[in-house]
Amino acid sequence: MIKTFKIVVLGGDGIGPEVTDQAVRLLREMEPYLSGVKFDLAEHRVGVGEYQRSGNALPESTFEACRTSDAVLLGAMGLPNVRYPNGKEIAPQLDLRERLQLFGGIRPIRLYHESDTPLKGYGKDEIDFVLVRESTEGLFYGRDVVADLDADEAINELRISRVGAERVCRLAFDLARKRNKAKKVSLIDKANVLSSMVYFRHIFDQVAKDYPDITPEHVYVDAASLFMVRKPDAFDVMVTENMFGDILSDLAAGLVGGMGMAPSADIGEDAAVFQPSHGSAPDIAGQGIANPIAMILSAAMMLEWLDHTETHRAAVALETAVSEVLSDPSHRTPDMGGKMSTTQLTDAVSSSLQKIL
Ligand code: ATP
Ligand code: MG
Repeated sequence: MIKTFKIVVLGGDGIGPEVTDQAVRLLREMEPYLSGVKFDLAEHRVGVGEYQRSGNALPESTFEACRTSDAVLLGAMGLPNVRYPNGKEIAPQLDLRERLQLFGGIRPIRLYHESDTPLKGYGKDEIDFVLVRESTEGLFYGRDVVADLDADEAINELRISRVGAERVCRLAFDLARKRNKAKKVSLIDKANVLSSMVYFRHIFDQVAKDYPDITPEHVYVDAASLFMVRKPDAFDVMVTENMFGDILSDLAAGLVGGMGMAPSADIGEDAAVFQPSHGSAPDIAGQGIANPIAMILSAAMMLEWLDHTETHRAAVALETAVSEVLSDPSHRTPDMGGKMSTTQLTDAVSSSLQKIL
């Protein structure tokens, strides 16, 4: 019996298509080595380019394809100087998150070579944690509200719902169980100041009772920022509110070489989108120098999530290939001080992969 996974590919804007092409290429190369598994890869239009073409940044046909797919691979969307007439950023990735209820943003942070971190004395075994970001509410709630510039104030709300907090906490504890690390989940909050966070903490503690094998802890977000830089090895799985997660994930990416090294997954009840943590990087688009690693590692996360013995094997192979390639510090794109192009780095991953599979 052959299992065909329907994967929607959304290149998007800027360097998005350049990096998704690399992931698609590697998936196609892996396919013949996997027994009983096929990938039905279909590209769909989305993003600023599509908005300019058709007036809709997320066409219904694209959304339907995503909704009915097994997984979505997404590059990046949005460009700083193209906006909706009301001034809002064109960010269909946020609409996708909302409409598919992708509540859990999973951002694994892993150092592949000591030369990639600005932290002195840290090596690949010490920086390896996962940030889980609640992605449907928090301080991003009500992002559609347009500020009244003539009013005397502007207010944003921070919403934590029972359902929202519980599902993201469960995702974090399940992840800690799967990882063979410290078996610890740290809730990053600000319960000393915000009542919404006292509530979040209460729900986190309730969920923790169902996981006696996992150690729960609470860390204030300001302290967590310091610990992340001073002793990143203290973390295993971290879970936090939307905006804190947004900020901390960029800080975390900085620990392992920058945005080009940070993969992510946005997980929902019955949909999942895999994309690099970085944006469309218009400053380097079209030059062939975008770092493909974050995108390739996002594809590895997708293979893991598809949950088939052969896709699990492929996920491990892909991550091992990346790890092998990056063990040579000259295998880097310019954002990390290297000289390789996007395709040269992918070529290296590809040849390493052939040997592993
Ligand atoms: P977003 O609003 O989507 O978060 P952003 O404005 O924060 O986007 P990014 O596009 O994520 O910006 O990246 C910031 C800068 O980092 C880019 O302008 C680019 O120079 C660099 N960068 C990001 N991703 C990569 C990559 N994959 N390869 C090389 N450089 C990158
Ligand atoms: Mg950003």
